[in-house]
Amino acid sequence: EKFKAGLEKTRDSFAGKMNDLVYKYRSVDEDFFEELEEILIGADVGVTTVMDLVEELKDEVRRQNIKDSKDIQPIISEKLAELLEKEGGETEVNLQPAGLSVILVVGVNGVGKTTSIGKLAHMYKQQGKKVILAAGDTFRAGAIEQLEVWGERAGVDVIKQSEGSDPAAVMFDAIQAAKSREADILICDTAGRLQNKVNLMKELEKVKRVISREIPGAPHEVLIALDATTGQNAMSQAKTFKETTDVTGIILTKLDGTAKGGIVLAIRHELDIPVKFVGLGEKIDDLQPFDSEQFVYGLFK
Ligand code: GDP
Repeated sequence: EKFKAGLEKTRDSFAGKMNDLVYKYRSVDEDFFEELEEILIGADVGVTTVMDLVEELKDEVRRQNIKDSKDIQPIISEKLAELLEKEGGETEVNLQPAGLSVILVVGVNGVGKTTSIGKLAHMYKQQGKKVILAAGDTFRAGAIEQLEVWGERAGVDVIKQSEGSDPAAVMFDAIQAAKSREADILICDTAGRLQNKVNLMKELEKVKRVISREIPGAPHEVLIALDATTGQNAMSQAKTFKETTDVTGIILTKLDGTAKGGIVLAIRHELDIPVKFVGLGEKIDDLQPFDSEQFVYGLFK
């Protein structure tokens, strides 16, 4: 239900336009498909994704000999669901059955990275896990304090050093603390300044190296936080980070704040990274594991 509520803006826009379309074109013809393409592109589904999707729809319409535009909605739902299922693979988070799991969270400033870390900490704590946070953004003024606020809200410890210190050293400390306190999950914040991309990517590489040196196989997840309201910007951020860091999943934030939730489909189809979580609000429990069925269901009234 939370998922559905979070998709309200997208649904209002998408379902409304779909209704208008069906009303305007009684029959499924070229004009119908052209306008459908426009609606999908307008919802940030992404041009190549839309082209592929509409080709498949046309095939299916031919196969099933559908004439009336009213009968096409179930097929659209089915194709959207298929697209989400087959692309991008596993949505499950890779947690170790025993011992410490490390989740590294990356992303550009302002996308909702800190908030998402707080929400994740809360979610895992609710599941009975012992969680520790590492304040790895030592660059942005106020980042450490902001993470501490979220740590307090979630009721989990935050390992930090002073502003300007080496993030890799923070990670080293955090891992030692997590081990000695027998934590289940260590969630690591990282810097998100993109002004000096090369420098940031080097920093992230070093952080990763220290983590995997201390715990072979870690980090077990590298999640990138992307802001759903930023469309193509989010896509290009994901590409930038993917080039240097093995990103294993996406936290798509602020899905509640956009009418263009179709970005989920573009991300899955064009980036080949699974969306693992979606942010559906500013509160601590406004994070949901991504569920493609619920997503598609949430697009229609
Ligand atoms: P960071 O710079 O990436 O760490 O971003 P923050 O975590 O500070 O978040 C930036 C802003 O986005 C804050 O005002 C958050 O409340 C807001 N925000 C984060 N996630 C969500 C979300 O899922 N939905 C909404 N509506 N706002 C969000």
